[in-house]
Amino acid sequence: MPAKTKSPYLLLANIGQLVTLRGDQAPRRGPALKELGLIEDAAVLCGGGKIIATGRQRDILRHPWLKKNRKKAQELDCRGRVVLPAFVDCHTHPVFAAPRLVDFEKRIAGASYEEISAAGGGIRSSLAGVRQAKRTELADRVLKAFDAMLRHGTATVEAKSGYGLTMEDEIKSLEAIRQAAGRWPGTVVPTLLAAHVVPPEYRGRADEYVAEICDEMIPQVARRKLAEYVDVFCERDAFTPEQTYKIFFAARKNGLDTRGHVGQFTATPLLPLLAFDPASLDHMDCVQEKDVLVLSGAETVAVLLPGANYFLGHKVYPPARRLIEAGVAVALATDFNPGTSPTPSLPLVMSAACTHMKMTPAEAIAATTINAACALRLQNRKGSLEPGKDADLALFDVADHREIAYWFGWNRCVEMIVSGQSV
Ligand SMILES: [Zn+2]
Repeated sequence: MPAKTKSPYLLLANIGQLVTLRGDQAPRRGPALKELGLIEDAAVLCGGGKIIATGRQRDILRHPWLKKNRKKAQELDCRGRVVLPAFVDCHTHPVFAAPRLVDFEKRIAGASYEEISAAGGGIRSSLAGVRQAKRTELADRVLKAFDAMLRHGTATVEAKSGYGLTMEDEIKSLEAIRQAAGRWPGTVVPTLLAAHVVPPEYRGRADEYVAEICDEMIPQVARRKLAEYVDVFCERDAFTPEQTYKIFFAARKNGLDTRGHVGQFTATPLLPLLAFDPASLDHMDCVQEKDVLVLSGAETVAVLLPGANYFLGHKVYPPARRLIEAGVAVALATDFNPGTSPTPSLPLVMSAACTHMKMTPAEAIAATTINAACALRLQNRKGSLEPGKDADLALFDVADHREIAYWFGWNRCVEMIVSGQSV
């Protein structure tokens, strides 16, 4: 029997609440962050992998194409539930070989992140596993993480290298991301994070490692188109602001865009970094007031990662309310990684953002869809449901969009549509 072919047309019918996020293809700031473009009793028509129309169901059913071709379109009955743009996870570290259970127990017993790192734990303890692993083993692990993210509503993922820290192992990590991306229906944005920590071979010679990143790794990664972004962990015990400028300069010179880890444990001066026009600056736990004002006038998105605060047991979270009120473009991401945030779930991160950062459930949705798409410069394709954009949608088994952040630890995502196809 011939395989049943899927129709290129899909009608999502009987949607109780449709979250469109329609509007400018730009990050939402201030009061606009909670405007979701809700439509009740809605339907969505997709074709050729794109959104054709969204609206009230009675209007969509009168759509001229649908009136003529109703039989050609596959129909998905959403039974009064919530549909929204698939989430965009704009900050993850999926290329690692094993969980860090010793660190987990040490922290429970009272050790701090910096104490664990000084005792040989932390990022450096993931190096051996990645260096020993074959590329295909890493790709299988990355794919497993992408699949878990997809089951929680995510169809676009930014994925960083950063646990190899040699030319060979960073390239192997980026190739593993590419291999996993080829087997996954969603969209993957790869990032070179060779500047995660200074590897042990370069202890006391950090500038030499920075020179290797700038003169050898970045040019090779750019030539082989293995990454779109270059990231730096700018922090005490990682890389200084001056080293970060050098790496960002090399990235731009080689045609790659930049993003950064800043202000997780100590404040990072942001103004000089903004000169490189980074797509995002992430963490922002320790952002200075003068930098809040500078950021509010920038296109750069502040990506907040409360999963890390939760898992590290911090009492203090990134100052989301201050940033939103100042007009900074704010997004949320999982920071999926083995040391500080081993969760693939953006709904869990949204819950932490609401409970601990006092974001509203609506703000948390905009921060994981349109604003997260802006953090990857994909806002013309992703992050909202509007004609011409990619048909990536998530169906949640809830009657109200606020329930997505409410049922923490209970995955209510029941169906994913990626490029107009149910996956
Ligand atoms: Zn990170």
